[in-house]
Amino acid sequence: MSGSAQDVVRTQLHEVFSGTEDDARARRRLESRAAGIKALGTWHATRVVQECREACGGAGYLAVNRFAALKGDSDVFTTFEGDNHVLLQLVAKGLLTDHASEFEDLDQLGMVRYVTNLAVETVIERTSAHKLLERVRDLLPGGDEWDREAGLLDSEYQLAMVRFREEHMLAGLARRIKRGIDQKRDPGAVFSQVQDHVIALARAHVERLVTEAFVDKVRTLPEGGEKAALALLCDLFALSTIEADRAWFMEHGRLTVQRSKAISREVNDLCRKVRPLAVGLVDAWGIPSAVLRAPDLVG
Ligand SMILES: Cc1cc2nc3c(=O)[nH]c(=O)nc-3n(C[C@H](O)[C@H](O)[C@H](O)COP(=O)(O)OP(=O)(O)OC[C@H]3O[C@@H](n4cnc5c(N)ncnc54)[C@H](O)[C@@H]3O)c2cc1C
Repeated sequence: MSGSAQDVVRTQLHEVFSGTEDDARARRRLESRAAGIKALGTWHATRVVQECREACGGAGYLAVNRFAALKGDSDVFTTFEGDNHVLLQLVAKGLLTDHASEFEDLDQLGMVRYVTNLAVETVIERTSAHKLLERVRDLLPGGDEWDREAGLLDSEYQLAMVRFREEHMLAGLARRIKRGIDQKRDPGAVFSQVQDHVIALARAHVERLVTEAFVDKVRTLPEGGEKAALALLCDLFALSTIEADRAWFMEHGRLTVQRSKAISREVNDLCRKVRPLAVGLVDAWGIPSAVLRAPDLVG
């Protein structure tokens, strides 16, 4: 899911710690990116292990086939090295404060005060949700007609959708915090009350980063089988991400029911296309059979 996004983290880590990129803002961005990818990556890993366990039926439950051990390992990663929800708060806080370089190391209360005094207008102004909406519309044949299937596999359409969602959520979160503070409520309580929006924004942000990194990676590959296979996976990731949040996109007028159904059809089609490549894609990781140690399943 996030191999390309992890490559970006690795590159940024090198730049920040080898002195080629040495400012506090770059460090904060790196920390935020690493935190967000860790959270989504570890949740994803646990879901994958469970899916594989069920796909192997009863054999998957046998200790000898090691799913229980893998589950134990992946499960705890959602908590240690930073609880995932707490890490996502860090990501969202970074997004809110990113708009004002003069603020560093804001604590939660400071961030809320900042948002109250300054940030909302800036955040709303700087988030270009309306421009992105126009871009999404431009990419659809027929302009305002949202029920055409064409364009779903256009990475510009996919990117515009995930960018729009993030920007819209960021502006919405800033407005909610400001409204609470305007009502003279306790800043900590206000932040707590919008916790679901905080987490949703951070998720949307990380999914946008992963989609961008994946699209960039596919674009740089030379034409050939590898590019074709990764392009399928990239489309599958982007469209299944939109599909998973289709209720939000419909609530915000970015998807019609027809187009939402078209996305699900496309996701199913992509799964059918990826299926014959599955063994090759797994083998590409080069995992030695000695490491697999699941005799009942892989011999
Ligand atoms: C196997 C294992 C090995 C470990 N190894 C180490 C180690 O080597 N070194 C080390 O220093 N630590 C280690 N830890 C500790 C680990 O870092 C902590 O367990 C982790 O940071 C979570 O803290 P906690 O257990 O206090 O849970 P809590 O922070 O109490 O979290 C419990 C729940 O409360 C929620 N929560 C917590 N704070 C907030 C908040 N502000 N807003 C909203 N929700 C919140 C969390 O999302 C979570 O659902 C290890 C833990 C485990 C399980």
